[in-house]
Amino acid sequence: MSSVAEPAAAPVPATEQDVLAVRDLVKHFPITRGLLRRTVGHVRAVDGVSFSVGQGETVGLVGESGSGKSTVARLVLRLLDPTSGSIRFEGRELTGMGARELRPLRRRMQIVFQDPVSSFDPRMTVFSVISEPLEAQGGTDGRANRRRAGELLELVGLSGSDLDKYPHQFSGGQAQRIGIARALATDPRLLVCDEAVSALDVSVQAQVLNLLRSLQRELGLSYLFIAHDLNVVRYVSDRICVMYLGEIVEQGPADELLSDPRHPYTRTLADAVATADPTVARLRGRRVVRGEIPSPSAPPPGCRFHTRCPSAFDPCRTTPPQPVAAGPGRIAACHLLTGEAAARG
Ligand code: SF4
Repeated sequence: MSSVAEPAAAPVPATEQDVLAVRDLVKHFPITRGLLRRTVGHVRAVDGVSFSVGQGETVGLVGESGSGKSTVARLVLRLLDPTSGSIRFEGRELTGMGARELRPLRRRMQIVFQDPVSSFDPRMTVFSVISEPLEAQGGTDGRANRRRAGELLELVGLSGSDLDKYPHQFSGGQAQRIGIARALATDPRLLVCDEAVSALDVSVQAQVLNLLRSLQRELGLSYLFIAHDLNVVRYVSDRICVMYLGEIVEQGPADELLSDPRHPYTRTLADAVATADPTVARLRGRRVVRGEIPSPSAPPPGCRFHTRCPSAFDPCRTTPPQPVAAGPGRIAACHLLTGEAAARG
């Protein structure tokens, strides 16, 4: 653990090369009750998140279920409207844009879902699945669409002769390849992969991750790679953002973040990866995160992680830690990195 660190007044400065730059992003969902649907509270799903994704870069967003990472995915793609904050894609501010303005940008940012088969209409052939985004973008030449769909299938390692089959005729890994082919149909610059390999067997996961890496090299894609499994995220990511209860608690280059985590939550995740079996981890003295993640409708005061943190001390229960520089390209939000720890003595 480093000694006292400087506050990071402007975390993760955006650069000209950033494909995506997210700043202070907030999404609160109202909780309503009664016939009049009176607002009685808010689910604070995303609460002041900032990060960026560079050209040809993979940024992993990792956290437990309920951390808000999938909400971030939907906000970035403007499938949800943010409560506040900024989302810049290829230098253009997306928040506040209407559907017409968004349409040409949407082809440049696509999503790969966890369960492709359930996201496809079961009556659609593979050709229809892949060509639908082309048609939505005005590609009405059926022959050209068919040729393009066949090329995309081959690009993801399937046969162009599979176009007239139905997605349910394929294995899980093959179906995910179809999902990737569909996402690539409009020549995107950014792919948001939301738990894209979570439903697959480990050996198939590796194949799909290798495919994503080779497509990235070939097509110069940028990825926002969202997963709960740090093992998966570290395999593909250049940089990693760790989310906890609506906030990014640490971010930095993948290797450094995992070999020397600065935030206690990252440390527990990294320890869990180092020792897959939690019982063995405990026996070896490795940290295992305890208890359940609290509800985002009532996040704990102070540091949101304090109810589960093995290092919590008094200020953690009342004062939210601010993000501070924690090494080259690294940021973490923990009192142990600031003057609070020094004051504790
Ligand atoms: Fe733990 Fe306190 Fe750091 Fe939060 S601020 S992670 S509770 S030590």
